[in-house]
Amino acid sequence: MMRQYELVETVKKYDPSADEQAINRAYVFSMQAHGAQKRASGDPYFSHPVEVAGILTRYRLDGASIVTALLHDTVEDTHATLPEIEKLFGAEIAKLVDGVTKLSQLEITGSESRQAENFRKLLLAMSEDLRVLLVKLADRLHNMRTLDHIADREKRKRIASETLEIYSPLAERIGMRELQDELEDLAFGHINPDARTSIMKRLEFLRTAGQSLVPRIIESLSGTLKDAGLKANVSGREKSPYSIWRKMQRKDVEFEQLSDIIAFRIQLGTIEDCYRALGAIHSAWRVSPGRFKDYISLPKPNGYRSIHTAVIGPDGHRIEIQIRTSEMHNLAENGLAAHWSYKQKAANGKGEADTPQYRWLRELLDIMEQAEGPDEFLEHTKLEMFRDQVFCFTPRGDLIALPHGATPVDFAYAVHSEVGDRCTGVKVNGRMVPLQTGLVNGDQVEVLTSKTQKPSPDWLRFVATGKARARIRRFIRIQHRHEYLELGRGILDKAFRQEHRRLTKKAIARAVETFQVQDEDDLFIRIGEGRLSGPEIVNKLFPARADDSEPGKARNPAARGKKGNGAASTETGISIRGLIPGMAVHYARCCHPLPGERIVGIVTTGKGVTVHTVDCDTLQRFNSMPSHWLDLSWDVEGTAEESHIARIKVFLTNEPGTLGDLSTIIGKNGGNITNLRFANRSIDFFEIHLDVQVDDVRHLTEIIAALRASPIITSVDRARG
Ligand code: MN
Repeated sequence: MMRQYELVETVKKYDPSADEQAINRAYVFSMQAHGAQKRASGDPYFSHPVEVAGILTRYRLDGASIVTALLHDTVEDTHATLPEIEKLFGAEIAKLVDGVTKLSQLEITGSESRQAENFRKLLLAMSEDLRVLLVKLADRLHNMRTLDHIADREKRKRIASETLEIYSPLAERIGMRELQDELEDLAFGHINPDARTSIMKRLEFLRTAGQSLVPRIIESLSGTLKDAGLKANVSGREKSPYSIWRKMQRKDVEFEQLSDIIAFRIQLGTIEDCYRALGAIHSAWRVSPGRFKDYISLPKPNGYRSIHTAVIGPDGHRIEIQIRTSEMHNLAENGLAAHWSYKQKAANGKGEADTPQYRWLRELLDIMEQAEGPDEFLEHTKLEMFRDQVFCFTPRGDLIALPHGATPVDFAYAVHSEVGDRCTGVKVNGRMVPLQTGLVNGDQVEVLTSKTQKPSPDWLRFVATGKARARIRRFIRIQHRHEYLELGRGILDKAFRQEHRRLTKKAIARAVETFQVQDEDDLFIRIGEGRLSGPEIVNKLFPARADDSEPGKARNPAARGKKGNGAASTETGISIRGLIPGMAVHYARCCHPLPGERIVGIVTTGKGVTVHTVDCDTLQRFNSMPSHWLDLSWDVEGTAEESHIARIKVFLTNEPGTLGDLSTIIGKNGGNITNLRFANRSIDFFEIHLDVQVDDVRHLTEIIAALRASPIITSVDRARG
């Protein structure tokens, strides 16, 4: 633990103007407030805020942040109060401490929606002052470093997954690469120790095999740059186990050569030198196509700048190279914290409000306002945070950054909600293209609109951004509401007429009161949705008639949805939102949809609804029949108890024991093999189709990734069709 004078000296070294007195007072105040409290490790509690302050000095944060770090747990965990802190340390510090305290109160998460609500508060709290987030991230980092000491395994896992789902993406988005890597690696070790160990083993192997290689390549690159008259610092950086794991989960990548684990990095003095270095390298070695990215002229939304390229380098090895200035390097590792270091602030004088990191935050808040409920919001943000970006231009040359996989519809919504709602067609680089075309970097997109156009449910199949999904869903909701309302009114009118009665204002008012619904519209909508039936209302309002009518005709309990939110149950008892109550539901056998995956329903007469995954090929047959489409989503609450069958295709080496290993890996990851079929058998490999019982798509992804990490397995894929 850092001593009081060490802390003060460290801060003074990079920020001579820091308030030394305040740091000293905060140190003593925190020590006294925490008193004899102990951490799970047995250390005095007070060591924690000091370590957090220590982490922040690494980023050269200002005095106020250091003081906040020292005080960050006092209001939450001790008798100290906010007014007291304001009196002793001033309004700025009190506000920062309050922000961090609010964030800490969010950590006990229950359901997904609780988590989403917390996340919303987190965004709001940090949008006030981003130093709150910096202190919070340092706090989380220290807690992750000491997570081993917590005895409860479930609690450790929960904290670790929260770190991966919320804190590491936040660190990424504000560009704090180094901190993000450490958070992820620590969390990974708690969540999936087996996967981490197998990746570490393989890393170790590749490292030993390539030991002499790395220095040789560095030397060779340095030589080439020196010959070109450039002063450069060349280094090799190993990718983190977690980033390798994520890449393996995301796409079919083998992880077998050094280029998969090491990226070479060239740091130079100026931007001009960067491009000269690029020229020198491209003329010395053959370029490996498809990997070139210029984030210097088009920075990532989090502010990241670098040139990425890949060449067939010295000795014929394919290598990845990142070229950047030292200043860009500092920003790439420390991100927003680099803006906050005292020097930057003094030098450019402008606040942090102009940084790309801040702009991202504002966009998130925007989405939040569009989303229906916290679940929907969380779904978007998680999706958006994990995706790579593409950059496109409006005809006027404005830059629009979109997640990877975005379509012209996403582009239209990113320009303006109205433009999205009214989009009829689109020209990409001057040519008309279908609305579901995937956009690529540099596309110039011109959206054609019409005042009479409305968002189509079909768009939900292919849009990639939260903003577009939120707007389209909202539109569908409003439209459905209108349709159900008219339908309900018709049904009730008919039910009255069958009993030779007139549907008067008075009768409606009585029904509203009897069935305790909000108002007239609400009553009709409930009838339209099948949650109330026409005869049911007539019988309740005019009880005398009830005896005359057949019981089966009078009531139709099966037509009523189980839940008030319109969720209904399928044949297997799983809840899906957006279904028509009472209609039969089947899972498509072509794509085996899993909870967590994006799904759509196809309505066929006499058969009910068939649930497909959005990327299922079968759907193409229904492209021209928009009225058959149903916008569905899994009801996240309460789906846990059911398992689903997923089909995967595995290629594995034909050696004794491999089949046993295969089932061990699946079993260890909680999957249950229910069927196994040899599709192909040769001297050196098997192709096997497996049906595996899993909880949801995430569970399946984990199993697939675990299989990919194993040396006996050549490839693993989801079997479709
Ligand atoms: Mn803390």
